[in-house]
Amino acid sequence: MKKILVAGAGHGGLVAAIHLAKNGHDVTVVEQKAREDMGHDWHDWLEYSAFDGAGIARPPESLTRKAVLQGFLNPSGTVELRHGYNETAVIMDRKDLIAYLLQLADDAGVHLRFETEIVSPLLKGTAVRGLIVRTGDALTALEGDLLIDSAGMNSPVRTRLPAVFGIDNTINRRSVFHVWRAYYENTDGAVNDPPYTIHLFHCNRPGIDWAITEKDYVDILVGKFSQSGELTQTDVDEALAAFRKTYPYIGETIVRGGSFEDIPISRMLPLIVADGYAAVGDSAGMTVPLNGSGIILSMNAGKILADTVNAIDGPCTKAALWPYEYEYFMKHGKDLVMIDIIKTLFTYVKGEDIDYLTEKKILTSDQLSVADSGSLNLSAQYILNLIVTGVPLLKLVPAAVRCFKTLPLVPFVCGAIPKDFDEEKVRRWIKRYRAL
Ligand SMILES: Cc1cc2nc3c(=O)[nH]c(=O)nc-3n(C[C@H](O)[C@H](O)[C@H](O)COP(=O)(O)OP(=O)(O)OC[C@H]3O[C@@H](n4cnc5c(N)ncnc54)[C@H](O)[C@@H]3O)c2cc1C
Repeated sequence: MKKILVAGAGHGGLVAAIHLAKNGHDVTVVEQKAREDMGHDWHDWLEYSAFDGAGIARPPESLTRKAVLQGFLNPSGTVELRHGYNETAVIMDRKDLIAYLLQLADDAGVHLRFETEIVSPLLKGTAVRGLIVRTGDALTALEGDLLIDSAGMNSPVRTRLPAVFGIDNTINRRSVFHVWRAYYENTDGAVNDPPYTIHLFHCNRPGIDWAITEKDYVDILVGKFSQSGELTQTDVDEALAAFRKTYPYIGETIVRGGSFEDIPISRMLPLIVADGYAAVGDSAGMTVPLNGSGIILSMNAGKILADTVNAIDGPCTKAALWPYEYEYFMKHGKDLVMIDIIKTLFTYVKGEDIDYLTEKKILTSDQLSVADSGSLNLSAQYILNLIVTGVPLLKLVPAAVRCFKTLPLVPFVCGAIPKDFDEEKVRRWIKRYRAL
């Protein structure tokens, strides 16, 4: 039996905790929030496969509903791309989702420690040995055989690991999406066709906004890529004014939520394991880099991590944990690198370029709606088409040159990740991965 600490009650950490506790390990989850404050004030789009892939029972149907039709609108409004979700796509309230995972964790015998702030990792040489936590004014050291870092993008563990661990402390500045999300009253109960529209480069701001019309409210998200700076209240006010012209029934009153948030939109970090340490979910950069969907990926990673740890007969060294990184990367991480490179291109282009890409059908709803599967299979034909048809963009955007040169290298570099851990081979692979 191992003593396992989970930093933060993130999705992947909870899934790992459930499986590890069921397998007889002593698992404690440390979370800063009170149990009743867990989750967020909004709904998320996910798939039943999130639960199947995580090896846990699907939630009762009463907690989910069918995903609605989605559309993408280009900046000038000339092209609307529609995307229908498949049968297994569902919408679920984030508070219900977390409450469901917490209940499964209770049932599995996981110790849940709420209202406990993680201050930093507890280190011994180049190994993680536990956590320093604060409850009230008291600082305590918690020790374990393994620390699972599930504390999100700004994890107090990952961001404080010394350089010798080789794990990135920060998410690169082009890989964060700043958002405002709030539910506004729907003053006449109208529902748009399609109900969910993603506005690309809305108001010519680099990013995406969405309006999801429901009878009782309109779910508004205003988003900006981080390289263009912080999202300001002025950006939000401008987007709302434009939205009210398109959807005149968006009222003034916020009926739920209303907060600024950051979403990592990066590829997986190159190294997510160390002696006594494994990162999962947003802390490891496990979102779809184009849209920030991370629930399915985090939950699946939690299962892979638990399976890896359950198979370890001895200390949780970096080498023993490497199969977790390898398997996750082969299953999801490598496919998302291409999306990350294309996303980076998006952070350089202007609204008129998006108009060009959509009008020439280079960007289609399939490429834009990668959220359902969490991965995107870009065929050689697609890449060729992208290069040929995208040529006019090369004159406009120097960054496109790098993008088009890098894309063909991705399968070779990603496929070369060492299967078995070898310090020198992993170091060389990370260097190539970073260069993509
Ligand atoms: C507005 C918005 C909309 C989104 N929509 C979708 C969607 O529709 N579909 C989808 O798949 N994904 C969506 N995402 C992304 C998704 O939320 C994340 O990818 C997913 O939650 C995985 O993150 P995580 O579980 O690893 O970490 P998090 O959800 O960030 O959880 C981390 C946990 O760690 C705790 N913690 C952090 N610091 C400390 C500390 N110092 N001490 C103790 N505890 C700490 C936090 O309180 C939190 O409970 C959305 C994100 C945002 C912001």
